[in-house]
Amino acid sequence: MLIDSHCHIHDRGTYNYVFSHQQIGKKLLKKYPDLPHEIDDFTPEKIIARAHAAGVNKMICIGTSHEDSLAARDFAAKYAKDGVFWSYGIHPDEAADSLFANMTSSDSEDLRRRRESRIGSSPVTTGRATGASEALLSCLPSRLVAIGEVGLDYRNGTANRTAQLKLFERMLQLAEDNNLPLIFHIRDAFDDFFAVLKNFPDARGVVHSFSDSPENLKKSLDQNFYIGVNGLATFAPEIPLPPLERALLETDAPFLTPAPFRGTINEPARVQDVCAYLSKVTGESEAKIAEITTKNAEQLFKI
Ligand SMILES: [Zn+2]
Repeated sequence: MLIDSHCHIHDRGTYNYVFSHQQIGKKLLKKYPDLPHEIDDFTPEKIIARAHAAGVNKMICIGTSHEDSLAARDFAAKYAKDGVFWSYGIHPDEAADSLFANMTSSDSEDLRRRRESRIGSSPVTTGRATGASEALLSCLPSRLVAIGEVGLDYRNGTANRTAQLKLFERMLQLAEDNNLPLIFHIRDAFDDFFAVLKNFPDARGVVHSFSDSPENLKKSLDQNFYIGVNGLATFAPEIPLPPLERALLETDAPFLTPAPFRGTINEPARVQDVCAYLSKVTGESEAKIAEITTKNAEQLFKI
């Protein structure tokens, strides 16, 4: 059995966008005529059926904003018997939006108090943030397995760095308050990531879609984090791989389709291809890789 520990199949808007954007490359369609090539082939039911046929029996739908997280929650409830779970997260790209726009004055006051009373602050953090939104608390039960994806993303510069740090700290606090693991999205921001974590020594989770240096891989492993491996590994082989004992398989579907299927829409069934690739480069059998990575995901997310 395999687990897709990171997908966005609940997000129909993104699927439709990706579909219309690339039209799946007509040439590639001819090359891989067995692959679905109509938007009708990407209904949730068909995506899930293909996942199950590929041995992917559990999948986690990842929230990227408050609204998107609630969509993931509803999707997981609807397809609970099919092995669908969800996570609550606000992506760093959203840092300037929803959460702080909705922040009440008592939240700000609380933040300020916490910041002033913090112990062991790191050079970059604004302090330990707190204050889960009531909307979130009301939806906590039922198949919520993690807080994520959350983190820091400086690919487009650091103009909103402070907002990102504040949001990230709130999400770390939310995970701590609810004893949940985290799904981290970190791009070009590992120094700040490790600095913020000094205030959250008990944080546990997975660095999703790791794409950084061997040094930052080692530091992430030293924090006892798991590392998410997806299709990126198949077409960016320079990215360092974690030991299997610390690897989680994921797709990030509909993005990051593994080679040789680039140019088509990704989906949880493709975890199988990531597994096959790892087997090729590590020399371990696919069965062994499936066994280890599935156990890792089950332990981390308690699924
Ligand atoms: Zn994602």
